[in-house]
Amino acid sequence: MHSPIFSLEVFPPKRTSPVGTIYDTLDGLQGLDPDFISVTYGTGKSSDRTLTARIAHTVNEYGIPAVAHLTAQYLDKDDVDEALDLFDQAKVSGVLALRGDRVEGAEPAGVFDHASDLAAYIREKRPDLKIYGACYPEKHPQAATLEEDIDNLKKKVDAGVSHLISQLFYDNEDFLRFVDKARAAGIDVPIEAGIMPVMNAKSVLRMSKMCESRVPEKLAVLLDKWGSDTALLKEAGIAYASEQICDLAARGVDGVHLYTMNHPCVSRRIWSNVKPFFV
Ligand code: FAD
Repeated sequence: MHSPIFSLEVFPPKRTSPVGTIYDTLDGLQGLDPDFISVTYGTGKSSDRTLTARIAHTVNEYGIPAVAHLTAQYLDKDDVDEALDLFDQAKVSGVLALRGDRVEGAEPAGVFDHASDLAAYIREKRPDLKIYGACYPEKHPQAATLEEDIDNLKKKVDAGVSHLISQLFYDNEDFLRFVDKARAAGIDVPIEAGIMPVMNAKSVLRMSKMCESRVPEKLAVLLDKWGSDTALLKEAGIAYASEQICDLAARGVDGVHLYTMNHPCVSRRIWSNVKPFFV
């Protein structure tokens, strides 16, 4: 059987912690041997692209290909050119082209209204750079229907995105149904399943509300019974994510993208459970 892609996401340390803490995260992830690590980018005009580029450079120093995220709704072409120059210097292997979320009170620049606009621009400016894009198994909250969202996703792929990474989801059937629909719509690029381990009941409920991701009954029971016991819920979350990943890999998905949330211990535990499917 062909091994699926395995990739990780890290984020730049928060403003309140020293940037050097990323070394703790990356040290902790050693041995997982991912195909790439992606580095998130803030949203809004004032986001620090040097930070994403610096962390991507550090990922490269660990001998792992780095993919830099870029959200462009609040950027103009000069800003994107500057980001691409920084990403060149960091020797990224690709860029995850994103629109980003709306920041209250801030007016979008009106240049890159959708991720597809950014993808088309990057393809023109850097024809050899691999462009990644986001996708939403349970549809993006702003799309009226999953079908409409998939039509828009096709535009993103036609604009130059050659690899998709999904939003988190807690029920594999939702992801597999989405992949079938995307394939039927002519989307033929790899689609990685985004898995976010459950670690804390409050954050699951916040994320599932924000992303409109369904909490299936079996997860709702865990949150209900063990939600107030962080240690127990973390163990259950590791088991839940491991089971999700093994099932997806056994059912032939293109790949799995693990949201590490900069908690390498959790990622390591999951990796040790799922490794046979990826080596
Ligand atoms: P788009 O692809 O532009 O889609 C947004 C909405 O517009 C959808 O409803 C879609 O159907 C519609 N649409 C898309 N294209 C068109 C078109 N051409 N014409 C008409 N309608 C269209 N956020 C961050 O701030 N930083 C990050 O680092 C980050 N990383 C992420 C990584 C992944 C894997 C995922 C899944 C999300 C990430 N996000 C990140 C969140 C993301 O910015 C938000 O979900 C945002 O609301 C949408 O971004 P997008 O690039 O998917 O937008």
